[in-house]
Amino acid sequence: MMRRIIIAGNWKMNKTYSESEEFLSEMANFTETKDLKNVDVVICTPALYLKLATGFAAKSKIFIGAQNVSNFDFGAYTGEISAPMLKAIECSFCIIGHSERRKYFGDTDDLVNAKLKILQQNKIIPIVCIGETLEEREAGITEDVVVNQLEGAFRNITVNNDVVIAYEPVWAIGTGKTATPAQAQEIHSLIRSWLIENYNHEIAENMSILYGGSVKPDNIRELLIQPDIDGGLIGGASLDMGKMKEMINIAVEL
Ligand code: PEP
Repeated sequence: MMRRIIIAGNWKMNKTYSESEEFLSEMANFTETKDLKNVDVVICTPALYLKLATGFAAKSKIFIGAQNVSNFDFGAYTGEISAPMLKAIECSFCIIGHSERRKYFGDTDDLVNAKLKILQQNKIIPIVCIGETLEEREAGITEDVVVNQLEGAFRNITVNNDVVIAYEPVWAIGTGKTATPAQAQEIHSLIRSWLIENYNHEIAENMSILYGGSVKPDNIRELLIQPDIDGGLIGGASLDMGKMKEMINIAVEL
C-alpha cells in the first residue's frame, strides 16, 4: 500500500458561516473535476461549521476534520463535543494535540492519548500533532521532546492505518518561519524510525506524516519531495482559496 499524501487545512478560529460555505462550495467543485491521484484534501473547520462541511464532503472528494474532541463519550461536560457526535455527522479526521491546545487549553500527552483512543473507537482518523518549542530546539533536545510526545500519545495504542502524525515545530507555526526541508526531513525520519521500533515496518511505511509550520505555495514543493514528508497541516495559507488550490495542484503533480 502506498501512503497517502494529505493536504490538510486547519482554519483554527477563523471564517464566518457564510465565508465557510463559499469556500467549501468552491473547494468541493475544484476537487470534483480533478484527478487527485494519491492526494487527500482535508479541511478542518471550526466545530460550528462541521455539519455544513460534511454536507459538501458527501457530494465531493474533500474530507472534513474537526480541530479537537472531548476525551469523554457523552455527559455533563459543558462546552465539549464528543467523538460519537463527530462520527454521527461523518467527520473523517480530527486534529489532536495541536500546540495551541497544549499551550492555551492545557492539553497534555495523557489527554492526547485518551483522545486518540476515543477517535479510533469511533473510526475517525486522528491527526496527532507533535513538535518542539524554540527553547527546546535551542537547548538541543528536539529529538527527546518529539520521542516523549510520541510515547505519550501512543501509549497502549494499536495502529492499523488509522492514524496520521503531524510534525509541527512550534516556532514555525504562524510565524512565517518554516523549518528547512532538511530540518523537517530529519525529524520525520526520526518519527518513522520510532514507528518501526515501536510498531513495525509496514505500519511505519503506511503512515502519513505531515509537516506543519508556515507551509505555503512557495515552500510546499521542497517539503513534499522529502522522502518522509507526506503532506502538510496548513494554518494561515489554508484560509486562502487561491493558495490552497495552488498547494493541492503542486501535491498532485509531484
Ligand atoms: C497549524 O495551524 O497547524 C499551522 C501549522 O499554522 P501555520 O501554517 O499558519 O503556521
